Amino acid sequence: MKNILVMGGAGYIGSHTVKHLMAQGYHCVVADNLVYGHREAVLTPDFELADLADKHSLTKVFDKYQIDAVVHFAAYAYVGESVENPQKYFYNNVVGTLNLLDVMLQHQVKKIVFSSTCATYGNPQYMPLDEKHPQAPINAYGRTKFFVEQIFNDYERAYGLKHIALRYFNAAGCSKDGEIGESHTPETHLIPLILKAIKGERDCIKVFGTDYDTKDGTCIRDYIHVEDLAEAHRLALEKLDDFSGCINLGTGIGTSVKEMIEAAEKVTGKKCPVEYGARRAGDPAKLFAANEMARQVLGWQPKYTKIEDIIATAWKWELNKRF
Ligand code: UDP
Repeated sequence: MKNILVMGGAGYIGSHTVKHLMAQGYHCVVADNLVYGHREAVLTPDFELADLADKHSLTKVFDKYQIDAVVHFAAYAYVGESVENPQKYFYNNVVGTLNLLDVMLQHQVKKIVFSSTCATYGNPQYMPLDEKHPQAPINAYGRTKFFVEQIFNDYERAYGLKHIALRYFNAAGCSKDGEIGESHTPETHLIPLILKAIKGERDCIKVFGTDYDTKDGTCIRDYIHVEDLAEAHRLALEKLDDFSGCINLGTGIGTSVKEMIEAAEKVTGKKCPVEYGARRAGDPAKLFAANEMARQVLGWQPKYTKIEDIIATAWKWELNKRF
């Protein structure tokens, strides 16, 4: 297995996965519609402009290259927007994935690693969240990922599709060497927003809720470094011959919003202007992963376990962004 198609390889996690795969000797083809992705983030010479909605554009990619397996990141991922405009999300994330699977099967490509999310669990019934936790997503975004996971099971039974869906917790940080990093428009994620407030690019970071049942009243999340995610995708690719299923990717460590702000102040040596506000709808108090399955099945373990180290990579990027 040498030629990997990275669908959505111009995006945040996709581009870091391409960088990792290439460093490990894989040949990567990136296909992306560049709606949210960045051309500058694509580190392989083999870039193809393609859209999940346009099967012809996908077919051209599979005709041109001898693809052995697909890593599929291409999705819309704004939870709030998915609630307001579910049509956009179901067409792109679900119908688009069906299109991709059609073209894969036409070309006898039967291996896929997929970006899923802990949002497929919905409101947590216990913590840490393991893969056996019931799945009851509470927004359209989570449901699109949940449906695709279900589709994979049927496609495996019927067509022999080998699949690993990786359920990410909070992806964070940037490539250690500063070559690529996180750049969303609009930006909604906690770490880049804190760093922009510290830089003076934003007035402040608004903390969404201070009355949660947590040690300091703010929400707790499990932040996993994007390079640890990238490595897990490679390990998943290498495991597809003998495993199909869903695997959590998190560190198992919870960090509160307040702890994150304090850590960012420590890393940058600067004060972060903070405004304390109301809760954001749909935010559970605590989310962190049980990651034994990733350790056992993939032989994976996170290299970044200190939040300061994750922030340091994001800060390096924030100070010297290329895109
Ligand atoms: N958060 C916050 N202010 C912000 C953005 C996020 O307090 O401007 C909190 C949010 O409530 C959550 C955590 O930071 O508890 C991580 O949010 P993010 O949007 O980065 O990821 P999510 O957990 O929603 O996927």
